[in-house]
Amino acid sequence: MALRIYNTLNKRKEEFIPLQPGKVKIYVCGITAYDYCHIGHARSAVVFDVIVKYLRYLTYNVTFVRNFTDIDDKIIKRAQKEHKVPHEIARYFIKAFYEDMEALGVAKGDIEPKATEHIPEMIALVEKLLQKNYAYIANGDVYFSVERFHQYGKLSGRSLDEMLAGARVEVTPQKRHPLDFVLWKKAKPNEPWWESPWGRGRPGWHLECSAMSMKYLGETLDIHGGGQDLIFPHHENEIAQSEAATEKPFAKYWIHHGFVMVNKEKMSKSLGNFFTIREVLAKFHPEALRLFFLSHHYRSPIDFSDVALKETTNALERVYLTLKRAQDRIGKEVEFEEQALKDKPLYHQLTGIETKFKEAMDDDFNTALALAYLFSGIKAINVYLEEKKPEKSLLAWAIAKIKTLGKVLGLYQSSPETFLTQGVALTKEEIQKLIDKRSEARKMKDWATADAIREKLRLAGIILEDTPVGTTWRKKRD
Ligand SMILES: [Zn+2]
Repeated sequence: MALRIYNTLNKRKEEFIPLQPGKVKIYVCGITAYDYCHIGHARSAVVFDVIVKYLRYLTYNVTFVRNFTDIDDKIIKRAQKEHKVPHEIARYFIKAFYEDMEALGVAKGDIEPKATEHIPEMIALVEKLLQKNYAYIANGDVYFSVERFHQYGKLSGRSLDEMLAGARVEVTPQKRHPLDFVLWKKAKPNEPWWESPWGRGRPGWHLECSAMSMKYLGETLDIHGGGQDLIFPHHENEIAQSEAATEKPFAKYWIHHGFVMVNKEKMSKSLGNFFTIREVLAKFHPEALRLFFLSHHYRSPIDFSDVALKETTNALERVYLTLKRAQDRIGKEVEFEEQALKDKPLYHQLTGIETKFKEAMDDDFNTALALAYLFSGIKAINVYLEEKKPEKSLLAWAIAKIKTLGKVLGLYQSSPETFLTQGVALTKEEIQKLIDKRSEARKMKDWATADAIREKLRLAGIILEDTPVGTTWRKKRD
């Protein structure tokens, strides 16, 4: 079976045929660096990390680009509030993003462009759109004219009127149509600006993804991805400005993942019901969060709760306990000849599971089903361990097989000892490191992180005391 992907553009699953045989060019919209990432961002990162890992498992030569928005209203607002320059805010939260991603085992993009480093490319794109009469200048701002692009709305499958009815559109008298979007914003006092043919200003948000993806991946991409909340207007606008400029399709497949919900409501900053990645990782193992995301299909909404995370932690612990039992039985490294194992029942069970795993992943990256097969593989190893004399070479092969498939999902790669003892005991150096991190967070007035670290230490049996000369710690005694 060939890989099939649900393509938002055509609203159906389609066989994946890359533009160039053997190569995949994929672009995913990254974060706006003005705050710590929440678990909605974590889901996005994990979903596309697994998609890229699976494409590589299928031996495609993948180029993965994920951007950073490092100039934007929200960044400027936060900078003004904290008496900093926007660049400092963006730099700080990009660093925090990398820390979170490292914890979650999310690989870096092959190219990670930043908006502020691509202003000339963006200006060139706006000039092209002006020349072709798809854009117009009003009061120093440049807008894209949605009425000029007749396919506007093709991604969300809605007409201009329908989109207008469902959108929160700011009233701007200088726009020709309320859905016209800004390509270039005229500089306001005390805001960063760049010189342009239309005066000083800065790019609108949508522009960067078109300019940067085309620079690194060409005018047509294989896959463009993001969350479902980006379909309209962000991706609709990306399509409009890119295809108007190039007269070529912008992306062949559009992949969108579902929301993270809390108590059946979409998690969002405005509702105040959101959790940062670090808050969650202070309480749960990063692999448990990863497993939680992958236990659901990427297009479905998922309901986050501590109870659900506890369940995935337990499931993960069972896997590592089996891996540990098998490893204890094997002892030191054992060589195996695959040929010699081919008549064993466990061998057949696991190669059958590998086929099923691949079929599940080929069906629009159905990680939930792929995981169910992996669990049945673990179960088969468990049963085999109950036999009188389980063979070491067969066990070694079986574990290697589970780890190879687990690697596609970024799971089961820790040593069982490390996984099972993590969080139980901390070294003095580790404790001091956490205390330093907390002090830094307090200096940044980032109380959420500071509290999360205090809580993490409390769970590890460590009590903190803030004194005038710094923070000290002691072991909790009940
Ligand atoms: Zn984008």
